[in-house]
Amino acid sequence: MITDKIMCPLCESGELIPHQTVEHYCYKGHHFSLADIEYSECSTCHSELVTPEQIKHNEIRVRQEHQHLDEWSSRAEIVSSNVIWRRPESFDQTPWQPAPSQLFGH
Ligand SMILES: [Zn+2]
Repeated sequence: MITDKIMCPLCESGELIPHQTVEHYCYKGHHFSLADIEYSECSTCHSELVTPEQIKHNEIRVRQEHQHLDEWSSRAEIVSSNVIWRRPESFDQTPWQPAPSQLFGH
């Protein structure tokens, strides 16, 4: 958290108070929201602005979430390809079950 007091550049009399808000994003078709996106509000004129430090913080948070989504989607691809390759195997391993054609006497 920023400890230095930052004066409002708009009214030049108020102090910028750091706040956190929820922002919604979309990345490669995945929607996510971050609850610790920072901005500042002037205590006097109530202008809302984002300081360079807060922009840096917010960008890092968004980038972290992008990395999570990249890792998650590459894992999901591996899992789905495993499912495709495992299915015929599991049928081969149960030879004692009659084939559907035998069940119905065709
Ligand atoms: Zn102000």
